[in-house]
Amino acid sequence: MQKGKINVQTENIFPIIKKFLYSDHEIFLREIISNAVDATQKLKTLASIGKYKGELGDLTIQVILDPKAKTLTIKDRGIGMTAEEIDKYINEIAFSSAEEFVKKFKTKSEAETNAIIGHFGLGFYSSFMVSEKVELLTKTYKKGGATKAMKWECDGSPEYTVTEIDKKDRGTEIVLHIDKESKEFLEEQRILSLLKRYSKFLPVSIQFGTEKISEKLEGEKDKDGNDKYIEVEKDRIINNTSPLWKKKPADCTDENYKSFYRELYPMTFEDPLFHIHLNVDYPFNLTGILYFPKVKKNLEVQKDKIQLFSNQVFVTDSVEGIVPEFLTLLHGVIDSPDIPLNVSRSYLQSDSNVKKISNYIMRKVADKLEELFKKDRESFEKKWDDIKVFIQYGMISEAKFYERAEKISLFKNTEGKYFTFEEYKKHIKKNQTDKDKKLNYLYTNDPEGQHAFIEAAKNRGYDVLVMDGVLDNHFINAVEQKLSDSFFKRVDADTLDKLIQKEEELPSKLDGKQKEELKKIIERNIDAKKFTLSFENLSESDLPFMITQNEFMRRMKDMQQTGGGGGMFMGDMPETYNLVANANGAAFSQLLEEKAEEKQDGLVKQLYDLALLSQNLLKGEALTTFIKRSVDIIK
Ligand code: ADP
Repeated sequence: MQKGKINVQTENIFPIIKKFLYSDHEIFLREIISNAVDATQKLKTLASIGKYKGELGDLTIQVILDPKAKTLTIKDRGIGMTAEEIDKYINEIAFSSAEEFVKKFKTKSEAETNAIIGHFGLGFYSSFMVSEKVELLTKTYKKGGATKAMKWECDGSPEYTVTEIDKKDRGTEIVLHIDKESKEFLEEQRILSLLKRYSKFLPVSIQFGTEKISEKLEGEKDKDGNDKYIEVEKDRIINNTSPLWKKKPADCTDENYKSFYRELYPMTFEDPLFHIHLNVDYPFNLTGILYFPKVKKNLEVQKDKIQLFSNQVFVTDSVEGIVPEFLTLLHGVIDSPDIPLNVSRSYLQSDSNVKKISNYIMRKVADKLEELFKKDRESFEKKWDDIKVFIQYGMISEAKFYERAEKISLFKNTEGKYFTFEEYKKHIKKNQTDKDKKLNYLYTNDPEGQHAFIEAAKNRGYDVLVMDGVLDNHFINAVEQKLSDSFFKRVDADTLDKLIQKEEELPSKLDGKQKEELKKIIERNIDAKKFTLSFENLSESDLPFMITQNEFMRRMKDMQQTGGGGGMFMGDMPETYNLVANANGAAFSQLLEEKAEEKQDGLVKQLYDLALLSQNLLKGEALTTFIKRSVDIIK
């Protein structure tokens, strides 16, 4: 037996590994299994180039739980190690990289160490997070010389022992003696769920326990002629060793993509709208499949579904910082060994490889959208309502994506017709250009509620866009900044004459004195806190009163509500409206002729309530009073 002291010049790192690193101690299992996978892959490679000529046999990696003995064992049939290799790889290299890792993060706060992507880098020694003792039994694939099977053992003090043992089978067996604080890792369900999380797509089969499967009995039927099944107990294999994203896109069918989606998200019942198969190896290595789901109203629940892998080892399902934020609305997998995993998230954003990768993904997404648009416009339009939020999110937040997507982004009008930006501009240019040569885009965020305004606009030959999505407010601002000499105006933001000013105002039928008198009558009948009264010379056939809400003020208020606007206002902005009186309206000439105050008030109130009603602002007691008054008038 050989005893040794692991190179400790400074301080003992074992207590630090155990106590201070990571809240998720669970990653030890991924680290140990990854090593077993690597050792197995290395042997396969050696065999394929003729450097290993012996049998490969069954290479399945076994995970064995023994709650009585309080051990968890991971056993592979890979290349194994000689005594010399144990010394080099375990005692020296692995230890010093673990030491370096610990030094780097020891002084950091828990939040900072937890921000390391997927907690990579601790390697073999992470097993001491959960073990009071670790044994490593190994036999190399090599023949002759010093190739006896060996056992390395360490109880978490810097001392270890190495002894020769009698082990027939090639490969390595890591026996973890689970410590008292980590009893959870002696529970079958806990280990099973960890294996499913981290090992689901590892390239070498992982077996853990057994499971009961019902199997069809060939050629046998019961008395009713139905197939017969029996229940058999079989080794439980955790993983799918060749996941779809590793295959060539040309070899995958639509059905393959759909069933892989179900494999990734067993709890999701809706099919994705379409997918993108990512596949590059230069200048970085990246494979993966991204799916476009139907985007829901609540964007937050949609996020964090993309799973990040590194060589088929699961790393994390929180890819923020690795892909642009809007892409986190997509589902699927990204697999890249070129994403640095032992750094913190905040560092990632500045990493040049990560930047290249995220630009690549963004470009591929834009390519795919363009392809769908060009190939089949009709089906693209059908999907539009479901992907609109995603595209708008991208256009608002990423300038590069805006450039690509502006060619395929669509506007929808109240008639349900779709237009590209270019097409729409042509569509409204003739009618909706004002006297200052500015183009006015009219929109509604509530086609039902703003029906009267929409109809009036249509009667003038104007077109009205439907902008009722969760991001439309922000989107309008973004688009307005890009288009020159163009403005978006909600259809109820002003009278039509003011929304799109064409020529000089009509002359007024009322003189100054008459207007003064009318003003007095109106003001004593309205809620002056909420409404600002103004007169406009509209045509005789226009409504006597109109309620509008200034586009600018309303946007400010909307922004304030969604947390934007930069805190320009202290406190809440009040809801304010304009009450526009049509100075040329026939109703008002009639009103001025009426001398009895009571009659004047009744008429104004009725006209005012009608205007409120058309904006859905007449409620409660005011509505009841209006109905009563209307009935009285009919009587
Ligand atoms: P890394 O895997 O990042 O190299 P580790 O600390 O996890 O670092 O492992 C150190 C080294 O120990 C590995 O590179 C490998 O040479 C050796 N090793 C670990 N586990 C095994 C195993 N199951 N079979 C063979 N060699 C192993």
